[in-house]
Amino acid sequence: MRLKTYLKKNDIVEVISGEEKGKRGKIIKMLYEREKNRIRAIVEGVNLHKKHQRPRGVDQPGGIIDIPLPLPVCKLALICPKCGQKTKVRREKIENRRVRICKKCNEIID
Ligand SMILES: [Zn+2]
Repeated sequence: MRLKTYLKKNDIVEVISGEEKGKRGKIIKMLYEREKNRIRAIVEGVNLHKKHQRPRGVDQPGGIIDIPLPLPVCKLALICPKCGQKTKVRREKIENRRVRICKKCNEIID
């Protein structure tokens, strides 16, 4: 089975299930975990967990920091940058370019 998602790095997404439901943020990293047959995404400011960090010199004194842990993409919905709604996309080929189109406002998202 191929791993597929319509989400990409830098998309704004909203969490649609679980404890973090309703939170929004930008995808800062996509994780394609083929061996586990799943795709997860790290979303800025969402699913934060405390982590102890060792001091790494003057600029990074260490202490407890919040780091975002990955969420399965099935828990995320894309927020369309054109209409601002939670949406799904369809894929089309326009002038030899594969683009994503918002199903709510029909605007090109890519
Ligand atoms: Zn839209």
